Amino acid sequence: MVRIAVVGAGISGLASAWFLRSQNHNPTTEIHLFEASTRIGGVIDTLELPLNTNHSNSDLLVSSDLLVECGADNFATLLPDALNLVREMGLESQFITPQKDFRIAQVVRKGKLIPIPNGFSLMQPTRMGAILATPILSPLGKLRVLRESIIPRKINDEDESVESFAVRRLGRECFERLVEPIVGGIFTAKADQLSMQAAMPQFLRMEKEHGSLIRAAFAKKPSANRETRSAREASGARYDQFIAPKRGMRWWLSELAAPFQNPANPNLQLHLNQPIKSLQRNDDGTWQVNQSTFDKVCLALPSYATAQLLTPIAPNLAAELASIEYASSAIAVLAVRKDEIRPEALCFGSIAPSIEKRNCLAISLSSEKYAGRCPQDTVLMRVFMGGSLRPDLLELSDDQLIDIARKEIRELFGPHSEPLFRHVVRWNRAMPQYAVGHLQKVQRIRNLETQLPGLAITGNAYDGVGIPQCIRGAKQAAQRLLA
Ligand SMILES: Cc1cc2nc3c(=O)[nH]c(=O)nc-3n(C[C@H](O)[C@H](O)[C@H](O)COP(=O)(O)OP(=O)(O)OC[C@H]3O[C@@H](n4cnc5c(N)ncnc54)[C@H](O)[C@@H]3O)c2cc1C
Repeated sequence: MVRIAVVGAGISGLASAWFLRSQNHNPTTEIHLFEASTRIGGVIDTLELPLNTNHSNSDLLVSSDLLVECGADNFATLLPDALNLVREMGLESQFITPQKDFRIAQVVRKGKLIPIPNGFSLMQPTRMGAILATPILSPLGKLRVLRESIIPRKINDEDESVESFAVRRLGRECFERLVEPIVGGIFTAKADQLSMQAAMPQFLRMEKEHGSLIRAAFAKKPSANRETRSAREASGARYDQFIAPKRGMRWWLSELAAPFQNPANPNLQLHLNQPIKSLQRNDDGTWQVNQSTFDKVCLALPSYATAQLLTPIAPNLAAELASIEYASSAIAVLAVRKDEIRPEALCFGSIAPSIEKRNCLAISLSSEKYAGRCPQDTVLMRVFMGGSLRPDLLELSDDQLIDIARKEIRELFGPHSEPLFRHVVRWNRAMPQYAVGHLQKVQRIRNLETQLPGLAITGNAYDGVGIPQCIRGAKQAAQRLLA
């Protein structure tokens, strides 16, 4: 009999438990999944609101169901780990791709929404015609972008910030007006502190291999390479590479947790509302998790929570873990009448550069991105606020955040009457900040982790914040424990 404890039931812990079960061939193994809160999912959750639901913190006036993603609403398939897990679960037919209409993102420029040029993929220009035509950049800014192909490559391998890389290659104007809001929005991070090696390694590879991002885009025939083709069709994000569960993220995570809630298999157990407060190593190499003994432990927690548990056992490791900073954010979810939205504003979402000095980081139009999120005559919007750029906004009350969100939507998209639905979600210390030197820190963490046999550390603080990266990390953690 082998007993394994997985601590934390966010996507990292759920996937670790899943792989520990699916890759382990010893039928007597017990796997116990411990979660501090009363639900699974961590920073992923979905609200499904039927007609006339009295939901705290919201007024529901629409005449049909809403499906509201409180955190992640989809994931990328280019890094295949999440898609592969969906396939292993036999659920691929339950996932949908973004809708075909309005597949563009817009950026705020002088208070107005302007489409991100076609083929501008995160920070890589792949269509020069679109760059020349965009009103987002000045003539000098455009020339500077075109000069990217002759800017010499960096000669050393030292890490640098996203701001340093983007300004060096594309110029300050393109950084401020396009790259900063696109990248900052994904990581809710300050671009002058965000590590290029940890957050955007693909562009470092392009610089290294081709000498330039533009030359990398033209290095292969577009039709020969899915990634290049997708980048050329992108407007900020490459939407053709994303999928979402038809019935929402919570449904998918419930399916992941289902084997651990099946009374027919008492060897697999999910324990909700059971925070792990102490972890000790016994003399025989087993682990004391609260009062119970386990042979192996997987910690799938935010790094500061892992640090707390490890301080008495491994203070150096705990100090490294505790030094990873986290940012908090809030999302105001609003449903508005579709006929009030300016037709030219309909899109998948908008982002706001810091230089525009607005109160929102981004606005996502959930109902335009994925089908079945709300009634046809309604638009479901998520207004993202806070992050490491505007922590001050998180001090405000829910009502104040709703007021800010309404003002942003009114000015950028048009609606002026009362929203049909409103709700505020807060995520405190949810997003790890990958500062310059992050990869080296993770390497030190991994080295120290090997001194604790039978323990694996995983989660979004190490090798990527996206769901596919969390799932890849979970699989590797399970493999380390089963090895
Ligand atoms: C607003 C937002 C939007 C996002 N959108 C996307 C997106 O569209 N696509 C994408 O790919 N990624 C997205 N991400 C990123 C991605 O969702 C997260 O990185 C990922 O879900 C983190 O999962 P995790 O399991 O590592 O951590 P968490 O979700 O933080 O899970 C950790 C769990 O551990 C539990 N816990 C903590 N302490 C203890 C303890 N002592 N004992 C027991 N349990 C404990 C917590 O309660 C929590 O459930 C988004 C993130 C945010 C915040």
